[in-house]
Amino acid sequence: MSVVQEELSLKDRVLQLKKEKNAVILAHYYQEPEIQEVADFIGDSLELAKKAAATTADIIVFAGVHFMAETAKILNPTKKVLLPDLKAGCSLAESCPPEAFQKLKDQYPDHVVVTYINCSAEIKAMSDLVCTSSNAEKIINSIPADRKIIFAPDKNLGKYLIDVTGREMLLWDGACIVHEAFSLDKLIDLSIEYPKAKIIAHPESESHILQVANYIGSTSGMLNYVKTSDYDTFIVATEAGILHQMQLDVPHKTLIPAPAKEDNSCACSECAFMKMNTLKKLYDCLEKEGPEIRLEEELIEKALVPIKRMLEV
Ligand code: SF4
Repeated sequence: MSVVQEELSLKDRVLQLKKEKNAVILAHYYQEPEIQEVADFIGDSLELAKKAAATTADIIVFAGVHFMAETAKILNPTKKVLLPDLKAGCSLAESCPPEAFQKLKDQYPDHVVVTYINCSAEIKAMSDLVCTSSNAEKIINSIPADRKIIFAPDKNLGKYLIDVTGREMLLWDGACIVHEAFSLDKLIDLSIEYPKAKIIAHPESESHILQVANYIGSTSGMLNYVKTSDYDTFIVATEAGILHQMQLDVPHKTLIPAPAKEDNSCACSECAFMKMNTLKKLYDCLEKEGPEIRLEEELIEKALVPIKRMLEV
């Protein structure tokens, strides 16, 4: 490293390297603020998938978790896709192993298989349609009423979709550890303390949390709700990383993270997988051009089909 480079902050070095290598940094809302600050695009799964499909950059650095970087690779297979930490997994994706899922599919061969984007490339390749929390309702409603449906891997999102669409669905028993960590008792105490606060929740949260929510929506939906609402105090039941972008969007409003069951330093819910990425790891992965997401061509082709169907819907 040259003397000049040493004098630059890590943030500046990331920005410089990104330019030199014609790379694009896509960051999920759940990333640390310092990563969001160097990103070209910040978004939820659907928005980032669209950006990954459309980018002309040579390298995609995906500051998120493994299944998201895989989705970027599937959508743009000729690009080099990097993930700052390959161990950044997802409890929800891991709750649905391909062998076990194949067994369920074999038991119900006449069912349409819809999978939430938070799953591995192998599971996507076994699906008829993929969805995100932004478009899940629309995707389910696009399936003819006489067709039976398997929905995987998130049972909480599945239950919510059964409620809003009225469709019977066979649910895989998976869940996100972060969205199952909210304490209803503490949430009720908080809403007594802040009687004017509106509770907003992600549909990956458990049913008892959704029942007390004033608004339920995807990460982008929640951001939009807070921006356009006449209310000025919100209790936010999703991963706490969203609060950074939300507060930038509504600096004059009060945002309170929904409390977790466990006592922890921030009294909120954070995804340990998402937080495995750091600005230093992001810099190192740009410099070394690794770790890289590599997928078999056949797997990419199969997994692309249900994702393309989703983007068409
Ligand atoms: S917040 Fe939950 S669903 Fe999202 S990456 Fe973390 S474990 Fe997976």
